[in-house]
Amino acid sequence: MSDVMVDVHGVHKSFGPLEVLRGVDLQVRAGQVTVILGPSGSGKSTLLRAINHLEKVNRGWVSIDGELIGYRRSGNKLHELKEKEVLKQRTNIGFVFQNFNLFPHLTVLENIVEAPVSALRRPRKEAEATALRLLDRVGLADRADTYPRRLSGGQQQRVAIARALALEPKVLLFDEPTSALDPELVGEVLDVIKDLAGSGTTMIVVTHEIGFAREVADTVLFMDGGVVVEQGPPAEVLDNPRQERTRTFLAKVL
Ligand code: ADP
Ligand code: MG
Repeated sequence: MSDVMVDVHGVHKSFGPLEVLRGVDLQVRAGQVTVILGPSGSGKSTLLRAINHLEKVNRGWVSIDGELIGYRRSGNKLHELKEKEVLKQRTNIGFVFQNFNLFPHLTVLENIVEAPVSALRRPRKEAEATALRLLDRVGLADRADTYPRRLSGGQQQRVAIARALALEPKVLLFDEPTSALDPELVGEVLDVIKDLAGSGTTMIVVTHEIGFAREVADTVLFMDGGVVVEQGPPAEVLDNPRQERTRTFLAKVL
């Protein structure tokens, strides 16, 4: 398939004796949304971190749009890339964290402009114009000069999404983007992610929001114990799961 955007192949990851990823394969096609479900400790965050090489895997590989992440292939051998080259690759992979991780000492606008200016050497004026456009897209055009602490959690997360988009990444990774939010703020963040899905952004979303998964996912993947237990369209995995482990999990979260 030529339109595979994210390709995770045979990935193993251990922390000391603890084997956290035990051979994970995953493909996401361009413009598609994959939602990852699974109990706490099943390896979901580690998998996302492996995709952008924040975790070095012990076996297997990851490629984005056909480019190997963290390594260069020569013959049969893989050579690790220098940190600087990895940072460059990471600008293709947007990451939205559970706890927003905005820079507290920078305004909303400065938060969004920082990476395009420092990592991509974009002219500041141009980066600011893009940032304002993105803030408008997430419904926060009037908050450009505000500091993060003055915003609600939902607003902070929408800024974090705008910040990720500012690098025009090939894929966006979300690690439980609404888990830290008060329930009444979850919807506004999910609406922004839905809007992105509708406009063809390639995404991997780790979440426990089953309704969101049903509505937005092209593929739902259930992880447990460091392996992909089953995957398929939402109607199959959520409404007609084949594996007992998936059924048990869904019974708890639904
Ligand atoms: P999930 O996101 O599905 O809850 P994680 O990927 O965060 O799961 O963690 C999977 C397992 O790996 C857990 O048992 C966790 O304690 C362990 N783990 C994660 N990161 C590290 C680390 N840096 N060092 C040691 N153990 C880790
Ligand atoms: Mg996690």
